Amino acid sequence: MKAIVDQEACIGCGLCPNICPEVYEMTDDDEKAIAIDEEIPEDKVDSAKEAADACPTDAIKVS
Ligand code: SF4
Repeated sequence: MKAIVDQEACIGCGLCPNICPEVYEMTDDDEKAIAIDEEIPEDKVDSAKEAADACPTDAIKVS
């Protein structure tokens, strides 16, 4: 599975790297989140989806 963060939609709230730091991180300027590696490790899929569900702007797609 892959995680993609829509850079237009992300408001940089910091929630997704808090929930799943193995998959998401903030950019160096802390303004946006990005997927560290698009391919999600098998044991992190649930956590990656949880972060996607929690995103206030629905910016994360996990599929
Ligand atoms: S939870 Fe959503 S809005 Fe917040 S940093 Fe992550 S992608 Fe951006």
